[in-house]
Amino acid sequence: MSCIFCDIVNKVEKAEILFEDESTISFLDIRPLNFGHSLVIPKNHYENFFDVGEKDLNAVISSTQFLANAIKKSLAPDGINIISNNGSSAGQTIYHFHFHIIPRFKNDHFTFRPQYKDYSNGLMQQFADKIRGGIKSFG
Ligand code: AMP
Ligand code: ZN
Repeated sequence: MSCIFCDIVNKVEKAEILFEDESTISFLDIRPLNFGHSLVIPKNHYENFFDVGEKDLNAVISSTQFLANAIKKSLAPDGINIISNNGSSAGQTIYHFHFHIIPRFKNDHFTFRPQYKDYSNGLMQQFADKIRGGIKSFG
């Protein structure tokens, strides 16, 4: 199975690499929402957040915090979004787990305007019960 991010890990595919350690690598996104938009990935291949191994997940989170601080220091954004898209409905296009680090600036015209749902008639409790049921099912 071919994977463009595995190719970047293996240096078969070119990327603007920012940082790497034993188990993670980070590089600039080729289609940035803002300049400096970066990706952090585990070197091992996992499809998404659901199946990334705990040790690699911890390593990716640490590298993400490290790089976010470096971006904050070097690019002085007003804020930073850290996002992970999981599944096509959530916008995932590359099926090798990654975090996006997106530097944000006042009036950068990047809009995400959700239409909020309304919990009514005990619906909030129903959803909480469903999720608690999911938690219980893990034993
Ligand atoms: P997602 O939609 O969350 O799966 O994000 C995948 C991201 O990978 C997109 O923002 C793409 O622009 C980015 N991307 C795809 N191919 C490459 C590549 N060869 N080098 C750097 N970024 C890439
Ligand atoms: Zn991969």
